[in-house]
Amino acid sequence: MKGMLSFKHGVHPPEHKEITAGIASKRFPFPSEVILPLSQHIGTPAKALVHPGDHVERGDVIAQAEGFISSTVHATAAGTVRSIELWPHPNGTMQRSIRITVDPNSTQMRRPRSIPRWQDVKDVDLSKEIAKAGIVGLGGAAFPSHVKLNPPKDQPVELLIINACECEPYLTSDHRVMLEQPDMVYEGIRIGLKALGITRAVIGIEGNKPDAIEMMRKTKPDDMDVEIVVLRTKYPQGAEKMLIKAVMDREVPSGALPSAIGAMVQNVATAANIAAVFKTGHPLIERIITVTGRGIRKPGNWRIPFGTKLRDVIEHCGGLTEDAAEIVFGGPMMGQSQANLDVPVLKATGGILILTNDECKRQDIMPCIKCGKCVEACPVFLNPQLMGALAKAERYEELVEEAHLNDCMLCGSCSFVCPSNIPLSQWFAMSKSQMRKLVTS
Ligand code: SF4
Ligand code: SF4
Repeated sequence: MKGMLSFKHGVHPPEHKEITAGIASKRFPFPSEVILPLSQHIGTPAKALVHPGDHVERGDVIAQAEGFISSTVHATAAGTVRSIELWPHPNGTMQRSIRITVDPNSTQMRRPRSIPRWQDVKDVDLSKEIAKAGIVGLGGAAFPSHVKLNPPKDQPVELLIINACECEPYLTSDHRVMLEQPDMVYEGIRIGLKALGITRAVIGIEGNKPDAIEMMRKTKPDDMDVEIVVLRTKYPQGAEKMLIKAVMDREVPSGALPSAIGAMVQNVATAANIAAVFKTGHPLIERIITVTGRGIRKPGNWRIPFGTKLRDVIEHCGGLTEDAAEIVFGGPMMGQSQANLDVPVLKATGGILILTNDECKRQDIMPCIKCGKCVEACPVFLNPQLMGALAKAERYEELVEEAHLNDCMLCGSCSFVCPSNIPLSQWFAMSKSQMRKLVTS
């Protein structure tokens, strides 16, 4: 791996991708009900447009984006709206959600929707079509894509970077997108380039996906200025700032957007789904999700309608093993543990990981031995040891102003290397949430 592009620091957690990397994605059956929160994205929750008793077809708009940083929600299956109520959300809160009883007799064909050819849409209007389809970043952050495609006027973008790193252990959904839909990825890149008014793109792929690298090289259209850059397999290579550093050798200043240094980063599955909007007239209503880990009987990659409950996913994947202990949405480094089997899968759910007792053994937290390993691991050059001490002492203002908590992306690299098992990144997440409460109280 030496010689491949990368960033400084970072860690090498065990990959475990072999569990599902070779399993082609399959369509998940429609469940008996879907639960669609009005907030599945960063920004203002969408406004519900339907009422209990309304009939909806698959792909219908059921909640409209409220303002610019928001995203439209569509029915992911045909059926009848049962209620709009507070429902457990994967982020641990209760969120207003539209509950749809799925019609078991429906063919689940979509209503015909007229979509213009993207080539005929003015550059400036492409992002409006993308907004109508409810597209958000599928790499985990769920930031509305139409906002990203409208960078500030004084920060022109010169390079579109497609994030195909998938650096979280276990997850393979982006890997499958590249193997199964390379033409859609390239089509999505063409649309993104047109929307941004530029011509150059780079696809960044970690070296641990040789078949995907080969597929993207083999299928690259001759008329496109796209470079496939193979990156060192290192966590968190897929974090926006780390990817930009590796590909462009530029640093995004603290608190700034990638457009400040001329870059825009888009996840590879997002690109493929943008192409699908124009090819099929399909809004964003499903995605490939990796269901994996030693705690699930039949791991695999599934194209799952959003709103499907976790318990339905587990049941269809053969159920939990006897030693299953923890369910995580996302990967083991940045994923969120789930305490309720009724939470729905959402636009941002790239993977469901089920860990076993052995893998989750609680280890005692020991005092800091000042070994410096966390400092060596931090990809944004923070001092997690100092931050940990400030967080423990609840000295939040110093944590923000002197230790730069806002630059921490909660990647978990510091916790991963800490020999004293100090849950540093969890403390930083709690500190951020505490600071938000103090500021808004
Ligand atoms: S969680 Fe924050 S402090 Fe820890 S390594 Fe990642 S960015 Fe650095
Ligand atoms: S890695 Fe853990 S023990 Fe070592 S300096 Fe950091 S917090 Fe202390």
